[in-house]
Amino acid sequence: MPRKSPRSRRKSGVTPRVPSAPRVRSAPGKSRARAARAARVLKGARPTEARRKPARRAVQRRRTVATPPRPRGRSVAPDPVRVRAVLEQLREAYPDARCALGFETPLQLLVATILSAQCTDERVNLVTPSLFARFPDAAALAAASPAELERMIHSTGFFRQKARSIRESCADIVARHGGEVPRTLEELTALRGVGRKTANVVLGNAYGIAAGIVVDTHVARLAGRLGLTRETDPVKIEQALMPLVPREQWTLFAHWLILHGRAVCNARKPRCSMCPLAPHCPKIGVTLSQ
Ligand code: SF4
Repeated sequence: MPRKSPRSRRKSGVTPRVPSAPRVRSAPGKSRARAARAARVLKGARPTEARRKPARRAVQRRRTVATPPRPRGRSVAPDPVRVRAVLEQLREAYPDARCALGFETPLQLLVATILSAQCTDERVNLVTPSLFARFPDAAALAAASPAELERMIHSTGFFRQKARSIRESCADIVARHGGEVPRTLEELTALRGVGRKTANVVLGNAYGIAAGIVVDTHVARLAGRLGLTRETDPVKIEQALMPLVPREQWTLFAHWLILHGRAVCNARKPRCSMCPLAPHCPKIGVTLSQ
């Protein structure tokens, strides 16, 4: 039978077939994913839930295996024999340990310690000689112009806060202590801008009074690494260390740990292979910030 042309088919009421557009095949991976999603929808699960739940479980399982929970709470007292060995090694390693801040009077040490917050001792020692020459006593510092004081200590950082602490603490020293830096922890910490760490530095190094142990970032880190305490709060660390260390060594002990923290047991790269404390350290081989 002869084939009718499209024109003759239209005339006879038959709609001609229009050739369909060529189909674009999607990538095999995409179509598999789409099929899997469709299967999940057919099963009744919402696609997002179906995707997330196994992933969360897997992450929780991985975390449980990789990082066992750290023991918390009060420290168990470390073995006194090991503590004595640590102290002996530190004493031998740092026989010349002393305060690295330059000072001649308790007031100068108080001011230098305030300036040393978030700053190196070397930088503070560059700033203080001209500062102490310009403002020789507590009365002069209390009456200093904020702008001039801030300009002189600018390079130590946080200069506005530090200038205010210096002026206010010196004003308190003049008003309540006749211009002399007090000799007790309670009186020192009652001064505006003076905390427990600064007070311990002044008492131990300027007056030779062992009222407590200075806990700075190095002391806190090493106390934990050496297994002396599990506390993380500076005051609790100090309370944990005081019964372990003979009182006459409290001031030196802080210097030893600060020196060791700078030279060997750095926060990020402790050099355990050359550490004299390694035989007594439970964290030998420790890595980043532990
Ligand atoms: S052995 Fe390593 S972690 Fe322990 S005190 Fe020495 S440097 Fe620090």
